[in-house]
Amino acid sequence: MNVRHLIVIGAAAALVGLTVNLAGQAPARRDFDAEYRAAVQGAKDAAGFEFLGTLVRTCLLPQSGGENTSDTVPDYVANPAKAPPRDSWYADPAKVFDDLYFVGGKVHSSWALTTRDGIILIDTIFPYNSEELIVGGMQKLGLDPKQIKYIIMSHAHADHIGGAEMLQKKYGAKVVMGAPDWESVEKYPNRYKTMAPKRDIVATDGMKITLGGRTVTIWLTPGHTPGTLSYTFTALDRGRTVNIAYSGGTAFNFVNNTPVPGIRNFQTYIDSQKKFAEKAAAVNATVLLSNHSEFDNAYNKNRMLAGRGSGPHPYEIGAKAVQDYFTVMEGCARAAQIRLEQRQAAS
Ligand SMILES: [Zn+2]
Repeated sequence: MNVRHLIVIGAAAALVGLTVNLAGQAPARRDFDAEYRAAVQGAKDAAGFEFLGTLVRTCLLPQSGGENTSDTVPDYVANPAKAPPRDSWYADPAKVFDDLYFVGGKVHSSWALTTRDGIILIDTIFPYNSEELIVGGMQKLGLDPKQIKYIIMSHAHADHIGGAEMLQKKYGAKVVMGAPDWESVEKYPNRYKTMAPKRDIVATDGMKITLGGRTVTIWLTPGHTPGTLSYTFTALDRGRTVNIAYSGGTAFNFVNNTPVPGIRNFQTYIDSQKKFAEKAAAVNATVLLSNHSEFDNAYNKNRMLAGRGSGPHPYEIGAKAVQDYFTVMEGCARAAQIRLEQRQAAS
């Protein structure tokens, strides 16, 4: 074997070694911290001032960690004296658009959409304040609660379903809710004591609730709860049609503190945000409504209406800002999901 052969063998061995090395190399390590920071930064950039509440709640504050699987009667139902003090939740009702009225509270929202054949009510707040805020609020605004024909429930949490049983019994309104949330109501009779409407309409994706020439289109957006609903519909602002996207569930109160099933739960949530962002864009939604003032500033905006004059409607933030809301929610959910992926990789 001469020197030339040795060089060839050596080169071949080196090549084989290189190949083995390349093939056996672990994939580049993910920089989870950098991915997390990028997701939060994206959410922060999109939030601006408009969605600071959404950013803080979903990116910064500690999450609940789990879902409620208990079946106990809430304190404020067992003993109405334990309901939070009125000044913590009372807000004046407001006529927000020509045909859309706010009848919620300081923290939680309820909306009445009027049509020539009756009223579609969206969400019903708590059992302890729905009578005063919804029934009383409608009366203050000159609306007749007997005209409520449909109640659309964004999801079965006590801060939204609280008045549904009372309103269904009193006025015979038909309640619309997602299938898994109907199941929750039926599964936890104590948790939903005084707030369990009997099953009327099970929402399906793209379902249209039409009354008096007005239509609310329902989109299934599981995540916040398995049956969370979001809507697209229109209202009139001084006679001009305005397109609205109503986001039915925001916070991460599903199992979110363990990789299984947290990663999957976040994916369900993210997929719903993407889907509803597309639906909002498709109708050119320029108004974003939520069921918490923390996310859409309803309480503050209602008080701005009086000073509007000939200026823009305080709720009309534009199509770009509506999309920004979804960017915040998606970015914060992705950030939390990255942390779970990091824990899974480390285990
Ligand atoms: Zn909720």
